[in-house]
Amino acid sequence: MGEPSIPPRFEPPHRRLMAPGPSTADIRVRQAMAQPVIGHLDPATGQLLNEIQAMLRTVFRTDNVLTFPVSGTGTAGMECALMNVLEPGEVALLVVGGAFAERMVEIASRCGAEVQVIGGEWGRPVPDSEVAAALKEHPDAKIVGVVHAETSTGVLQPLEGIGELCRDHGAMLVVDAVASLGGIPVEVDAWGIDVCYSGSQKCLSVPPGLAPITFSERAVHVRTNRATPMHSFYLDVLPISQYLGSERLYHHTAPISMLYGLHEGLRMVLEEGLDQRWRRHAELGAELLAALQERGFDPYAPEGHRLPEVVCGRLPDWVDDKPMRRRLLDEFGIEVAGGLGDLAGKVWRLGLMGESCTRDNVDAVLSAIDVLAASVRSGVSSDA
Ligand SMILES: *Cc1c(COP(=O)(O)O)cnc(C)c1O
Repeated sequence: MGEPSIPPRFEPPHRRLMAPGPSTADIRVRQAMAQPVIGHLDPATGQLLNEIQAMLRTVFRTDNVLTFPVSGTGTAGMECALMNVLEPGEVALLVVGGAFAERMVEIASRCGAEVQVIGGEWGRPVPDSEVAAALKEHPDAKIVGVVHAETSTGVLQPLEGIGELCRDHGAMLVVDAVASLGGIPVEVDAWGIDVCYSGSQKCLSVPPGLAPITFSERAVHVRTNRATPMHSFYLDVLPISQYLGSERLYHHTAPISMLYGLHEGLRMVLEEGLDQRWRRHAELGAELLAALQERGFDPYAPEGHRLPEVVCGRLPDWVDDKPMRRRLLDEFGIEVAGGLGDLAGKVWRLGLMGESCTRDNVDAVLSAIDVLAASVRSGVSSDA
C-alpha cells in the first residue's frame, strides 16, 4: 500500500443554477455562513433563532407561534409535517399530480395512515369540487395534503378554496410549499393552512439544509394530544418548541452556519419585499416560457396553472435530452433539469428561483439553446 493521497482542496465549477433547485446563493448569504461557529445554547443563537422565526412568519404570512426551520432539506420538512399530525389508521386525503405528491403518499403510508389519493394524474391540477367530494366520502379524514408548486410538472395547484373545505369537515390542511415560498404568493393564515413546509434552496435562495415550517395552534394541539407516540425523535415538534421557547432546552445541535445563511437570505427576501419578488418571478417566468414556446418547447402544465419559477416544457424533436443537457453544462456552465419518472426524456424543467431568477439567466439559457439548435441544423454532432 502506498501513501494515502490527499486530494486537493475542492473547488466547485462555475455554474448558472437553472434547475428547479438548488438556486444561486448570493455572496451575502455565503459570507454569512463563513462566520465563526457559536454554540446552540449561546444567548446570541437564541436571538438569531428569534429573528429567523419572526422573519419566517412574515414570509409565510402567518401569526403561528410554532414557525421555525427544520434541520434538514425539504423532505425533512415533509416528514416533520406528516409524522407529527398523522397516527396509524387515520385517513389522509392526498392531492396527487406529480412526483413530490407521490413522496407525500409514501411518507403518510409509512406513518401507518390510510391514504386516499385525490386526482392521481400527473400534470392535472385538481379542482376544489374533487376535494369536496373526497371529504364527503371520507368524513373522518384527518388531513388533506397538497403540493402547492409541483416541481416535477411545473403545475400550480390552487389552494384558496381548500382550507375552508377542510375546516367544514374538521380536517387539517397540510401544504408543501417547498418550491413556492418566496417565489409566488403563499398565504398560510388567509388560506387556512394548518401545516406548511418549504425548503431553503428553492425560491429562498439559501443553500440546501433547512426546511422552514409552520404549525397552526390546531396542529400543535393535534400533536400534543396524540394517542400514539411519535416515531421520530429528531422531528418531534414538542421538544423542538421547548428549545425554541424561553426554556432553550437542548434537543439537537442547531446547524448554526446554515442558520446564519437563512437569516441573511430572509433579510434579502424582506428587503426586496414579497410583492416585488412575486412580480419578478411572474414576469421573468412568463418571458422565458414564451421564448421557449417560440423555440418549440410546448408547456407541459395547462394554461392558468403554470409556475413561473419552474418552467416545464415538452422537448421538441431536435432536442436529444441527455447529451444536450450535458452540452449546456460543459459548454455553457448552465444546469437545467430533465424529467422525473415517466417524463424522463420528454421534458426539460428550467428553474427561475430566487437569485437564479434574473434577466441575465433567461438570456443566457435562451442563447445557449439557440447555439444548440444551430449546431443541430448545421449537422455538427455533439460527440464530434
Ligand atoms: C425539492 C422539493 C421537495 C424535496 O426537497 P429536498 O430539499 O430535495 O429534500 C419536496 N417538494 C417539492 C415540491 C420540491 O420541489
